[in-house]
Amino acid sequence: MIAAQLLAYYFTELKDDQLKKIDKYLYSMRFSDETLRDIMNRFRREMENGLGNDTNPTATVKMLPTFVRSIPDGSATTNLFDHVAECLGDFMEKQKIKDKKLPVGFTFSFPCAQTKLDEAVLVTWTKKFKASGVEGADVVKLLNKAIKKRGDYEADIMAVVNDTVGTMMTCGFDDQRCEVGIIIGTGTNACYMEELRHIDLVEGDEGRMCINTEWGAFGDDGSLEDIRTEFDREIDRGSVNPGKQLFEKMASGMYMGELVRLILVKMAKEGLLFEGRITPELLTKGKIETKHVSAIEKTKEGLKKCMEILTRLGVEPSDEDCLAVQHVCTIVSFRSANLISATLGGILSRLKENKGVARLRTTVGIDGSLYKMHPQYARRLHKTVRRLVPDSDVRFLLSESGSAKGAAMVTAVAYRLTEQARQ
Ligand code: BGC
Ligand code: MG
Repeated sequence: MIAAQLLAYYFTELKDDQLKKIDKYLYSMRFSDETLRDIMNRFRREMENGLGNDTNPTATVKMLPTFVRSIPDGSATTNLFDHVAECLGDFMEKQKIKDKKLPVGFTFSFPCAQTKLDEAVLVTWTKKFKASGVEGADVVKLLNKAIKKRGDYEADIMAVVNDTVGTMMTCGFDDQRCEVGIIIGTGTNACYMEELRHIDLVEGDEGRMCINTEWGAFGDDGSLEDIRTEFDREIDRGSVNPGKQLFEKMASGMYMGELVRLILVKMAKEGLLFEGRITPELLTKGKIETKHVSAIEKTKEGLKKCMEILTRLGVEPSDEDCLAVQHVCTIVSFRSANLISATLGGILSRLKENKGVARLRTTVGIDGSLYKMHPQYARRLHKTVRRLVPDSDVRFLLSESGSAKGAAMVTAVAYRLTEQARQ
């Protein structure tokens, strides 16, 4: 009995010891609240730069006006848009509405400069997209052209919305307090309702307008260099858009598995994992995916999953290796939740100031695969945000129906307004 207890004690010690070693090894990925508050304040400055007339042209966080003013109550260019036009045609065919000219709205999950609801000029592609000839062009015009070329149906494109805006709108339907929309998936981004008097790019001082922050570009001017690691730089170098979307590359789902893989490779090379075994699989880009990170961090079966995943990479992992790799995953995904807590905290503290209240009561609509699928992510994010913005009651609402429904809602409002104007 005593021997068993001693043994258990010995193993816990050993485990703690090992985890501490990894903490030390990856210390640059672990942030104190002080650092997080510092990042939060940096982001608040970026938001202001994006909103100001003189500072907007050079701002990295673009703060794009969306022309959504209120939350409702209750490959190659032509190929891409030909495809969208075809999908729309198929849909209308199925619904037997091809003879009607319907108002259409669509979600476009990329940064667009808008001067009205139904015009959206692509600023730059992000994530893995690269179709040529779209940057600098109005995606509504491109889609209209593709529909005309087909000639088998008509459509009236009334609105283009970013996916964050769609998310805020759908959640806003269920909870009228919703005034922030965020996506934590392949990419990451947020929108929120800003006072029009603070938006230099749009005339008028009354009321509010939704701003698409495009926070994924935070750091593109070098303002996050002190917290970027060698792994982040390697990810960036191997991406389709080097030097761009640097915050997104540290925090979103598209890069998380790869970040973990790069760390494991380095640790193995230094003999800290797998007795130094390095296999071609472990060295192959993309072999560890974000969904693997999610599986490895599951409370009960995480270690077993970790063993399976590492075994498939041929590294012959020991139990200790699995424990270590699980800890690496935790550090990487926790860093993401921390970073997004800081930027979201920046938005929330700004909202609080805008309203001039002692305590902020608000709802954040959220969507995205990382937030939804990772077993610990949501809890960590909520907890950190509440710590960073103490005087607040923040409700996090999952967008169940996806951002497309939000686009439909914006379209419905726009349609109603034009109908009213016609009468
Ligand atoms: C895009 C944003 C989008 C986000 C989430 C980013 O890469 O720039 O427009 O909202 O991904 O999909
Ligand atoms: Mg204004």
